[in-house]
Amino acid sequence: MVEASHSTVPDTVRNLVIVLGDQLDIQSSALQGFDPSQDVVWMAEVAEESTHVWSAKQRIAVFLAAMRHFADAVRARGWPLAYTRLDDADNAGSLQQELAKAIVQLQPAALVLTAPGDWRVLQNLRAVATQHALALDLRDDTHFFSTVRDFAAHAKGRKQLRLEFWYRELRQKHGILMDGKAPIGGQWNFDADNRESFGKAGPQDVPPPTRFTPDATTEEVITLVNTRFADHPGSLNSFGWPVTRAQALVALDAFLQKRLPLFGKYEDAMWAGEAWLYHSHLSCALNLKLLNPREVVQAAEQAFHSGHAPLAAVEGFIRQILGWREFVRGIYWTQMPDYLERNALDAQAALPAWYWTGETDMACLKDAIGQTLEHGYAHHIQRLMVTGLYALLLGVQPQAVHAWYLSVYVDAVEWVEMPNTLGMGQFGDGGLMASKPYVASGKYIQRMGNHCKGCRFDPALSTGPTACPFTTLYWDFLQRHEELLKKNPRMAMQLKNLARLDGPARAAIAQQASAHRHAQL
Ligand SMILES: Cc1cc2nc3c(=O)[nH]c(=O)nc-3n(C[C@H](O)[C@H](O)[C@H](O)COP(=O)(O)OP(=O)(O)OC[C@H]3O[C@@H](n4cnc5c(N)ncnc54)[C@H](O)[C@@H]3O)c2cc1C
Ligand code: SF4
Repeated sequence: MVEASHSTVPDTVRNLVIVLGDQLDIQSSALQGFDPSQDVVWMAEVAEESTHVWSAKQRIAVFLAAMRHFADAVRARGWPLAYTRLDDADNAGSLQQELAKAIVQLQPAALVLTAPGDWRVLQNLRAVATQHALALDLRDDTHFFSTVRDFAAHAKGRKQLRLEFWYRELRQKHGILMDGKAPIGGQWNFDADNRESFGKAGPQDVPPPTRFTPDATTEEVITLVNTRFADHPGSLNSFGWPVTRAQALVALDAFLQKRLPLFGKYEDAMWAGEAWLYHSHLSCALNLKLLNPREVVQAAEQAFHSGHAPLAAVEGFIRQILGWREFVRGIYWTQMPDYLERNALDAQAALPAWYWTGETDMACLKDAIGQTLEHGYAHHIQRLMVTGLYALLLGVQPQAVHAWYLSVYVDAVEWVEMPNTLGMGQFGDGGLMASKPYVASGKYIQRMGNHCKGCRFDPALSTGPTACPFTTLYWDFLQRHEELLKKNPRMAMQLKNLARLDGPARAAIAQQASAHRHAQL
């Protein structure tokens, strides 16, 4: 298993340095102090990571391709590497089993690991270390501005956790977009200048996305995934994600040059058939650690200082990475493992089967799911206010929604996916992550794009044969949860509108919602 062709395997192994599939940075904390004369890098491709949720082909391929390219970078340094390939005849299929085999073979004195993104993985690897009576040197992940300890200190004693306070704290601490103690531009938040729709004319001259033609290594992975995981969702025909650090840097630069100036303005906008718009498409590279958020934030800030991009766009972009990304990670690690079980609205419906195919006549959902299966990508508003909103309004069990999101996106790693889905999208945590459920009728989707024009439903209608299911289910949601929502002042306006509906109107909505729900079974 240990590859000796590029280097001499140490007779006595000091550290077996574990590198997981989302820790692909040669500068990572686990590799600090690596000594090729005493240490060995350990990596393993295992089927369990692609099957514990039914991972889409794009997601499996991006991980495997990036891992294999990273392994090449390790080999190029002449560092000893123990690497298990998915198609190795004796592959035991899980990280624990493969690690246990390596320990028996190499007899290391200790294990070294950068803190993993998944709670489950950390428990499993700890168990292996204990089983073999080995010290596990668990190091902070430097691909975040904050540590989980920082977040826990911030959260201590607060009744509510809100992004805004955490974000401001990090801006001040790291001096990002600051003018002394005040935010540059005199305000922390430029949301009012952002979030426009494209208007009737639609998006004009959107730059093509930065995609990469698969090289021989990636082609080999594509063939492997198409064979081994043939029945998994999605397709690899359009695979073009960055899978090396060099490619990720090209993608970052192209975003800064071509998309960042309009990022904020069109952050929330949608348009049929337009998957990429002005988003960065960098989440996957960030989550695999091909990019460090510090370099991304610094480059964006520089684009403002050089006059290339306006403050509203740059602040909006930095808020996503310095704010949301750090916030959801803190929530995940301070709330697990109970977080996974939460279901504050007691939602019990199954996820409609067409989430795995996109075969629905609701145009907005068909488009969002279609591009998700094709590319493993959808932007934030599609995830929150189309696929997420529909599941929330329908009353799907949050854990089933979580399993879908974790399966289908190339950037899906549990620490970031779960709070976004279960907390922000489904209100499963009862308001820990979001101050209110993100609910809206079909009119929101109509306002933010053009899908409703090409749809057989009418977002203005809540009942009747052409009623938009989002609109029906929205009013039904407010009715079903009225008592609970009354306790939330941020829902007052929406409940005031609900109060305008008389008894027969309410009953008709409830009946139509129930019929729609049954039709999805
Ligand atoms: C239900 C749901 C599930 C999600 N699942 C994931 C997931 O599995 N993995 C993931 O990385 N993001 C997830 N997000 C957050 C967000 O939708 C994606 O990060 C974003 O769409 C990725 O596309 P992009 O790189 O073009 O982002 P951009 O719009 O260009 O944003 C820039 C960067 O900011 C970060 N970011 C933006 N929003 C968030 C957020 N809410 N939480 C954390 N980071 C954020 C990402 O790193 C992203 O690359 C989810 C959001 C929702 C509502
Ligand atoms: S009418 Fe409703 S279902 Fe159709 S695209 Fe608009 S919001 Fe989606």
